[in-house]
Amino acid sequence: SKWVYSFSKEKTEGNKDMKNLLGGKGANLAEMSSLGLPVPPGFTVTTEACIDYQKTKSFNDDIKKQVEEALKLVESSTGKTFGGGDNPLLFSVRSGARVSMPGMMDTVLNLGLNDETVEALSKKSDNERFAWDSYRRFIQMYANVVMGMSHSLLESTLEDLKEAKGVDSDTKLDAKDFKNLVKVYKQIIAQETGKKFPTDPMEQLWLAIEAVFGSWDNPRAIKYRQLNGIPGDWGTAVNVQAMVFGNMGDDCATGVCFTRDPSNGEKKFFGEYLVNAQGEDVVAGIRTPAPINECSKNDSNRSEKTLEEYMPKAFAELTDLYQQLEKHYKDMQDIEFTIEANKLYLLQTRNGKRTAAAALKIAVNLEEEGIVTKEEALMQIDPEALNQLLHPRLDPDATKNIIAKGLPASPGAGAGKIVFHSDDATSMHENGVKVILVRQETSPEDIAGMAAAQAILTARGGMTSHAAVVARGMGKPCVAGCSEILVDSKNRTMIVGDKKYVEGDFITLDGGTGEVIEGEVPTLDAEINADFAKFMAWADEIRTLRVRTNADNPEDSETAVKFGAEGIGLCRTEHMFFEPERILAVREMIFADSTSHREKALKKLLPYQKEDFKGIFKALDGKPVNIRLLDPPLHEFLPHELEDKKELAEYIDVELKTIEEGCERLHEFNPMLGHRGCRLGITYPEIYTMQVTAITQAALESIDEGVDVRPEIMIPLVATAKELSILREILVATIEQVRGDKEFNYKLGTMIELPRAAITAADIATHADFFSFGTNDLTQTTFGLSRDDAGRFLTEYISKSVLPSDPFVSLDQEGVGYLVKFATEQGRNANKEIHVGICGEHGGEPKSIDFCHRIGLDYVSCSPYRVPIARLAAAQAVI
Ligand code: ADP
Ligand code: MG
Ligand code: MG
Repeated sequence: SKWVYSFSKEKTEGNKDMKNLLGGKGANLAEMSSLGLPVPPGFTVTTEACIDYQKTKSFNDDIKKQVEEALKLVESSTGKTFGGGDNPLLFSVRSGARVSMPGMMDTVLNLGLNDETVEALSKKSDNERFAWDSYRRFIQMYANVVMGMSHSLLESTLEDLKEAKGVDSDTKLDAKDFKNLVKVYKQIIAQETGKKFPTDPMEQLWLAIEAVFGSWDNPRAIKYRQLNGIPGDWGTAVNVQAMVFGNMGDDCATGVCFTRDPSNGEKKFFGEYLVNAQGEDVVAGIRTPAPINECSKNDSNRSEKTLEEYMPKAFAELTDLYQQLEKHYKDMQDIEFTIEANKLYLLQTRNGKRTAAAALKIAVNLEEEGIVTKEEALMQIDPEALNQLLHPRLDPDATKNIIAKGLPASPGAGAGKIVFHSDDATSMHENGVKVILVRQETSPEDIAGMAAAQAILTARGGMTSHAAVVARGMGKPCVAGCSEILVDSKNRTMIVGDKKYVEGDFITLDGGTGEVIEGEVPTLDAEINADFAKFMAWADEIRTLRVRTNADNPEDSETAVKFGAEGIGLCRTEHMFFEPERILAVREMIFADSTSHREKALKKLLPYQKEDFKGIFKALDGKPVNIRLLDPPLHEFLPHELEDKKELAEYIDVELKTIEEGCERLHEFNPMLGHRGCRLGITYPEIYTMQVTAITQAALESIDEGVDVRPEIMIPLVATAKELSILREILVATIEQVRGDKEFNYKLGTMIELPRAAITAADIATHADFFSFGTNDLTQTTFGLSRDDAGRFLTEYISKSVLPSDPFVSLDQEGVGYLVKFATEQGRNANKEIHVGICGEHGGEPKSIDFCHRIGLDYVSCSPYRVPIARLAAAQAVI
């Protein structure tokens, strides 16, 4: 079989659609190569070879042979020879998985150098400093990636040398310095590893390929996969590519650019570069890079020379190429480039990571520019990413004591206690403490700490630094390159001006402005802009599934309507009972010893409920409002504290003992399967008749006030058709009586949340105007899994792949989903008019929404903030 794919001007075997086999980087290198773009030639060893290698920990003969053949092609394409001769070929060995895992795995540059080839390179380039700079870089990377030495050991030797020479930058070191450095490096490596640095380039190459394959399973790659749900059996490809040199002199450079602004999506070509530098220098934050053009400038680099000014020809070429790439890929690109002796090379392109706000703007603009269709634009955004847009920002009216300003690397506002180490961030977060991770700069080892933090602050690094890229991907606020702060992570302090901050002090970051603020500043909810409205209108145009919201009060209802809710799918009336001035009346009702006493207590609650319903009807004017009658067991409303019991005894004028006995009597061992839902309605019909009276009166009064009301009255926890038919009769009679001769339209239906109800849906449907699937309880009762306690072992179930995911988060389509589908079909057969929706947490989860669309439900209902997510997911389900 085929393990190796070449890419070069002469011969390219892969393309952009082969990401699974070639990895994202390899597939795109092949694609760019076949488009005729300036890409150094090379070859990709496939992900399948990685999996094969993982099994046997060795390379099979086919792989070896194919690598050697591909290597010859690179030699003939470049006219250089690997491992000898007077024009030595050097390679970069680069990892590349299916999806980009920025900085998660390792790269080795300048491979093929040894004491002989370095001399040849020096002679050929007529640049001794360059040759030895490349050699010391190679040894540094190789020792770390392949020989497993810590980064810091050789790095600190370099730092010491710079200090001894009194220079602040690598560019000020000369050939002699690098020659010495190489000697010292080799000694340290021999001491530390007990091995000699390998001199045979072929051996260097194989060990490097092996190391990249091995790096797929290093701890930080595993952590990244966990955080991003990437399967462990995908493997990584290895790209072996001819080196081009950005470190050959002042007519050389290396850089990273985005075809649009990744923070806000504006159509601005945007990027950073370094003269006379190589590879990771730009992203590692070792030297702070310069802007490539005027619009990439920020406050701290305003005076620096742009690439456009410094190398106008190469810049013009880069401009031409980025436009081609964007049109070709139909998306914003993140491009890595290197300029060798004024000649531009592209080393990587991929769809750029971006904030949700940027993603939205880019999708809308690309459609307007005719690059993508509406459908393609809608598919560009992960519905979950909209979450970020709906997130808090700083209250503009709050006073803020700005202590420093860095780069606005990832928008959003976050406040918390300062921590200086990632593991502290993780452990404090686990204890419920909000933290801000403050670092000199971040590295891939900080991933878990960044995920745990509210926001991230770094003292060094640019807009494309590790911290910035990762934070944007996570949707976390980040202020990067804030050079005014002095971070001393060893002593856990941060100094700004003459003030010292210690671990545990509160700060607030505004990732949209780069401000670092003392203390905890209040935040405000997000605003919806014109792009958002336009994009969501496309989603609404395409989707067929309606989206409602779960809201229990007028304020939440208003928020949801603002986010595009088309009705309320679930209004839980019991939440209205817990308000302090109402709970006493509720308890009086529970402890009543006669129907008439119970009715007396319920009468007190009626006006409250009526007002709440009127508020909700008003917010939803003309849209359906599904109101669920009382559902939880009475047990949940009982007083627990002695004080509360005394208060209640006094309120209803009985002995404390009576209350205590009552509590005992009402206690249930398994209340969630107990005296609740329609079972309360059957045993205490006066509760439901009071609620229905309140609904009817609220509706009539609202109609008089000019509000269009469409109530749907929902009876919970029905198991049998009989329960529903009994209650329907009672409630219809109540409504008829309350409304007298007034016009009033309503629907009466049920929740399907017990397996028995789903199985007998045909019978139940003859008494119902609608079904609403309560998939939280339906999941609990179908699995026999307590939703309040299952967390303890569910995580283990998921990590051991017993279950593919948490069934309370993403609907179990085979089991619970089957019941939903079955009941919908049965219900519709028995009652053609029946209206069907879902109101569990699943109503806001994209995969579950896709399922609901496929089985033909009428609507999903979810929490207000998830309404836009559901609207987009419903549109994507159609496309
Ligand atoms: P990552 O996946 O971490 O971005 P890459 O494989 O893209 O790692 O390599 C990192 C950097 O190394 C690149 O951005 C580029 O600057 C440099 N690099 C990689 N390949 C080459 C090459 N063939 N010639 C010159 N520089 C290279
Ligand atoms: Mg890269
Ligand atoms: Mg329920």
